[in-house]
Amino acid sequence: MKFVKHLFYKDSLLNIDPIYSISVIGTLYLFFYMLIHFARNELLIAIVELIVIICSIFNLTFYIKTKNKEVVSNIILAGILLFLNFLLLDGGLEKTGIYWIFVYPTLAFFLKDRLKGIYWNLAFVLSIIILLFLDKHKIVNLAFSEGNVVLALVTYSAIFIIMVFIKSNISFNYEKIEKLATTDSLTGIYNRFQILKLLKTEVEKALRYNKTFSIILFDIDNFKSINDNYGHQKGDYVLKKVTEIFSKNIRKTDYFGRLGGEEFIIITPEIDAKSALIVAEKLRKLLEKSKFDDIGQITASFGISEFEKGKDVNQLLKEADDALYLAKRKGKNRVCIYNEKCE
Ligand code: GH3
Ligand code: MG
Ligand code: MG
Repeated sequence: MKFVKHLFYKDSLLNIDPIYSISVIGTLYLFFYMLIHFARNELLIAIVELIVIICSIFNLTFYIKTKNKEVVSNIILAGILLFLNFLLLDGGLEKTGIYWIFVYPTLAFFLKDRLKGIYWNLAFVLSIIILLFLDKHKIVNLAFSEGNVVLALVTYSAIFIIMVFIKSNISFNYEKIEKLATTDSLTGIYNRFQILKLLKTEVEKALRYNKTFSIILFDIDNFKSINDNYGHQKGDYVLKKVTEIFSKNIRKTDYFGRLGGEEFIIITPEIDAKSALIVAEKLRKLLEKSKFDDIGQITASFGISEFEKGKDVNQLLKEADDALYLAKRKGKNRVCIYNEKCE
């Protein structure tokens, strides 16, 4: 029942998870061919097809349970490779088995990234070269002439090359679009959309693994006067330089994002508010000592909140914001933890 439900999930078939779509479409094709082969009493190929169908269903069930894309797509590509080899030996329906080798490049690049797609295609071509070799030495008996198989491989290579270009183009555009959609164009760190998404994921992780984490919200002090006195461009320069300095001084596992204007957030996984305070104090002092051309000293105020069971993203942000507001009220250039005394 669960399997059937997954087949028709909006997220699986329509949103085209490659593993679902290839498994479902491939199995339907095989099923159709299997019926014809059984009807014609071509038992060997019909039984092989039945075995492939059963394996495919098991594989998809395993995928639904584990979501292990890497292993499942390897099984699919290895299975199809073997089945296509078999078709070259058997001949397939009305001796059309050889045509099916042309689906392999598309499948491999649909399931894998460019490099792994290339590897799988090379493995496939190698398997056919081995078949040709075995056929030449009469160890196996191909249903097609050597010339036909070689010419099919030439056509295959053309499809393969086109697929490499298509895949490169898609990856390149995808990376560009992903970068544009997730980073802040001025500072190059995560934008609001992405950092809030990461924060949501962090809440889910903390709940799942029973861990904690903290967020540090900070806002540059008197930033308006920098803009007013030195111009907007200088203001932008300050934003860029502050992000640069802080990026270099937080952990690689921390997430740093710009919420908007001169307000930023750092997500510090696995650490409590007390440890986040040490991080924030370090950054605060660092900023205080940094030189910003002719502008002089720049400071910022920080607010910290710690995740606990029951808190959602909004509450966490609100608490950090309250702490930040308190830091401003207390005279700026300081760090406050939510619900704790702050001087
Ligand atoms: P406080 O110490 O209380 O934080 O005061 P503030 O002056 O820093 O805060 P306020 O919110 O009054 O001003 C923030 C200013 O930041 C106003 C806005 O023009 C400026 N700003 C927002 N985004 C940008 C940006 O991308 N570039 C520049 N240069 N300025 C920006
Ligand atoms: Mg400010
Ligand atoms: Mg502000």
